[in-house]
Amino acid sequence: MHYERFAPSPTGKLHLGHAFSSLLVYNSTKKNNGKFLLRIEDLDFQRCRREFEESIFEDLNWLGIKWDKKPIRQSQRFNLYTDVIKILWKKGVAYKCECTRKDISKAFQNFDKNQSLSPDIYPGTCRTKTINHDNFSVRLNIRKAIELIDKKDLFFFNKSEINTPFKKINISPETLVRDFGDVVIARKDIKTSYHIAVVVDDSAQKISQVTRGYDLFKSTFFHVLLQKLLN
Ligand SMILES: [Zn+2]
Repeated sequence: MHYERFAPSPTGKLHLGHAFSSLLVYNSTKKNNGKFLLRIEDLDFQRCRREFEESIFEDLNWLGIKWDKKPIRQSQRFNLYTDVIKILWKKGVAYKCECTRKDISKAFQNFDKNQSLSPDIYPGTCRTKTINHDNFSVRLNIRKAIELIDKKDLFFFNKSEINTPFKKINISPETLVRDFGDVVIARKDIKTSYHIAVVVDDSAQKISQVTRGYDLFKSTFFHVLLQKLLN
């Protein structure tokens, strides 16, 4: 079965980009005899509001989109995300990080300029630290994670235009290390992350095709790694 999802965050009203992508997904499910699933990505309890969730339903109705199955709401699924983070701990690929943004930018200033890390990439300060308090995030040790999987499995199929064929994209381990580094898999405040929630939910909803904006294109690379790690 062909399943696709529309997964907005209720942090405001839907905009034209949402309308475009929801219709794109809806038409694709119709064409493929698939199901259109709705997922409310409301992990960020500081910014998400129920009233915006209501307006998402209204706007989709207005667009003539009907969703199959009951929508799922990420804020009701924290236990599942916690379980998956526990699995990553057991595999030995997780570690605690107590750094603030300030700590991280300071670490960069002390860094040897010859090291070709970009400023967005975590320098690994806490990788070997012992942390005995509760104010920490959890990071994925990306090098260790890559060691656990078969590199041949690191690929996905992509198309950037509607009427072009899918092309196989191979993900090189070097790209993961260079462009992602040790990504946060559980934030200090919500104890999970966008990446973990999406990978868990795409699996639970049996999603076979994902439509996303270019701003999130690169996250696909990391999601494939998590999918392989978690089988
Ligand atoms: Zn740290």
